[in-house]
Amino acid sequence: MRILVTGGAGYIGSHACLRLLQDGHFVVAIDNLDRGHQTPMDMLGSVYPDSFRFVHSDLGNTKIVLDTINIHSLDTVLHFGALAYVGESVEQPLMYYKNNIASGIGLLDACDQAHNGAGISRFIFSSSCATFGDPSDDMIPVPEHCPQTPTSPYGSTKLQMEQILIDYAKKRELDNNPIALTILRYFNVAGADTSGLLGEDHSPETHLIPVAINAALGRRTSMTIFGTDYPTPDGTNIRDYVHVDDLIDAHVLAMNTISVGQCEAFNIGIGKGYSVREVLEAVRRVSGVDFPIQDAPRRAGDAVALFCDSHKVRTVLGWEPRYTDIDAIVSTAYSWMLSHPDGYAE
Ligand code: UDP
Repeated sequence: MRILVTGGAGYIGSHACLRLLQDGHFVVAIDNLDRGHQTPMDMLGSVYPDSFRFVHSDLGNTKIVLDTINIHSLDTVLHFGALAYVGESVEQPLMYYKNNIASGIGLLDACDQAHNGAGISRFIFSSSCATFGDPSDDMIPVPEHCPQTPTSPYGSTKLQMEQILIDYAKKRELDNNPIALTILRYFNVAGADTSGLLGEDHSPETHLIPVAINAALGRRTSMTIFGTDYPTPDGTNIRDYVHVDDLIDAHVLAMNTISVGQCEAFNIGIGKGYSVREVLEAVRRVSGVDFPIQDAPRRAGDAVALFCDSHKVRTVLGWEPRYTDIDAIVSTAYSWMLSHPDGYAE
């Protein structure tokens, strides 16, 4: 296939590019580099000079996106490009709506006009478990039909993009020009590619596992647990951590399984929840370092417990995660961070 990867210079997008290139696809990554990195784009370009291109642009620039799709005869879009911090979205909601919705519509406009109006034929959207908000106890583990009531602007942007895409897919059906649409709702993505080429490098870093690894490696003096009074066995939040390579597997399976005219949503997580304290214990075990941990109040927008009912993705796509143990996931992140003390050093 000939694939446009939006947000291709980001953590998950770059892992997707690598996997698609390994599988023999032609890949164009597009990224405004606000949060993504040039270095992995240069690395992929040097390893795959014939099948990889990088375009430095905002997704909202419909003309550049349209030209990119047309020039390279792209047929598939994997749409990762988005701002993705729950806490930041509470503080700067307009930035999130502008980036995740307005730019998303710009991208969709380009997809619609591509190939003289024939359009892109396959679209996979990175949605989030944040679209579910704080599910009631009878909805844990969280199935696809769980009511979607986001508790943060980030979650709202993802839900609204889902709805926009579903409406767009219906329009394509009416035009007798159907599209294959897959919505993947990620739970907490973690870990790094095991070849050592790619990893997770956010600035600032706020995600639990890399923050804890930084504490273990002495790159920060301590770390903080946001909330120890939740109604969970140890008082801390519960999340479902899925390895980035397993997550990308789900995209590859969706690309090959969901056919034009189909519109399917899947929850992607291993189906097992770990509390914040359990994750921190895993980081202590993997690193062998008993780093300091401080208790702090709850963080705005955080749900109590979110872990996935992964039945649908397993049965319909045949997805089977390779990493089902938190120590194994943490180990891959730890290895990359240990060997990259300054991340991508940009
Ligand atoms: N968390 C924490 N301390 C940190 C970062 C995160 O206690 O320094 C908690 C956070 O409150 C949440 C879980 O770890 O319950 C996962 O947070 P993360 O930011 O990694 O992902 P999110 O669930 O927000 O997508």
